[in-house]
Amino acid sequence: MRNVLVSGASVAGPALAYWLSHHGFKVTIVERAPALREGGYAVDFRGKAHLSILRRMGVLTDLEAVQTDITSTWYVDGAGRPQTRMPDDLFSGDVEILRGDLARVLYEATRDRAEYVFGDSITSLTEDGHGVDVTFERGAPRRFDLVIGADGLHSNTRRLAFGPEEDYVKHLGVYCAIFTTGNHLGLDRTGHAYLTSGKLVAMYSSNGNAEARAVFYFASPLLEGVRRNVERQQAVLAERFAGNGWESDRLLREMRHAPDFYFDSVGQVHMDRWTKSRVALVGDAAYCPSSLSGMGSGLALVGAYVLAGELAAARGDHRTAFARYEETMREYAKGCQKMGEGVAGYMVPESRLLTAFLHRYYKVMPYLPGKKMMVAKTRRVAENVVLRDYGN
Ligand SMILES: Cc1cc2nc3c(=O)[nH]c(=O)nc-3n(C[C@H](O)[C@H](O)[C@H](O)COP(=O)(O)OP(=O)(O)OC[C@H]3O[C@@H](n4cnc5c(N)ncnc54)[C@H](O)[C@@H]3O)c2cc1C
Repeated sequence: MRNVLVSGASVAGPALAYWLSHHGFKVTIVERAPALREGGYAVDFRGKAHLSILRRMGVLTDLEAVQTDITSTWYVDGAGRPQTRMPDDLFSGDVEILRGDLARVLYEATRDRAEYVFGDSITSLTEDGHGVDVTFERGAPRRFDLVIGADGLHSNTRRLAFGPEEDYVKHLGVYCAIFTTGNHLGLDRTGHAYLTSGKLVAMYSSNGNAEARAVFYFASPLLEGVRRNVERQQAVLAERFAGNGWESDRLLREMRHAPDFYFDSVGQVHMDRWTKSRVALVGDAAYCPSSLSGMGSGLALVGAYVLAGELAAARGDHRTAFARYEETMREYAKGCQKMGEGVAGYMVPESRLLTAFLHRYYKVMPYLPGKKMMVAKTRRVAENVVLRDYGN
């Protein structure tokens, strides 16, 4: 039996663990966080490819049961009065779910099939012809046949095996912060968003209206010294949004007590190859399309299915399997990444003129013929992959 180490327990990691164990591989997942990470807002699955994989994993019903129930999102003015409805159907998929709920469902589906190690991280990978010797920050060194990085946009595995992040990550000019807060506006299955130049702050009801998610986006070049420094991240957010109007100040106060504060730059990962010798990357670590694309989780899911399936089909011959994985995923990933390009410019436009124009444009958008075409295009991109039957 082949022994595989997976780094990262969010979406791609547990999905890969599911399929690898399904095909008879022995899987260990190492996750840097001390426990499964909660937090984030919604992620979407859309089209036949995503849904068929979730169905085959036996998790589709569980996910449908905990779908977000948001029916609409409105842009509001400074006094909180709804002005224009966001084109929600452009962005939402067949299944929309809070990222934390998704991670939990995938974890529950795999916790008995894989060994989970929380609170640790890989520090070195040393390969020879037969395997990889791995050292960890905390645990004892171990040896594996293969190592797969499912550790996200800032992948540690990618850095160790392929080189520095700057060579692969393209910043899209936006930062994002998300956290749980009280539903003090009494939002009923709805979201309110307040757009000013270069800044968007929003609140969505969640958990059956019992609480809300605060979402902040702001235009910015890459910032020094903020990664993994929550104090600094909150200070940056406070600097940008203090006195910004609407609910900004109140949300900034509540941010200090949030149980699941998430803050990150928004970027894409572009690599010529996702595999090297006995190491491969999957999900955001390999081909992050960015949260602006609405494709990150679906793409990660398809990547996990294909990578595990090809390893099974090649009977563990990783060279053949990795080549097939790259071949199957390349165009698909490219299409998903295209969906995230150029979005930042109209999501948080820096010019006042464009901001004012967008408010007007969204008013007429539901009546424009192009909208249906855009929805159909998103679906086409999500379905544009041929999934082999790997003996499921
Ligand atoms: C807390 C959080 C909130 C998010 N919120 C949203 C959202 O609201 N909307 C959206 O569209 N996308 C969100 N995302 C991103 C989304 O989950 C991914 O784009 C997509 O699902 C692909 O998932 P992934 O598993 O490849 O990467 P990610 O979801 O980024 O997961 C990577 C995992 O690797 C872990 N990790 C990082 N470094 C190491 C290391 N050195 N060793 C071991 N493990 C490591 C991380 O803790 C994380 O659990 C969020 C991600 C996270 C981690």
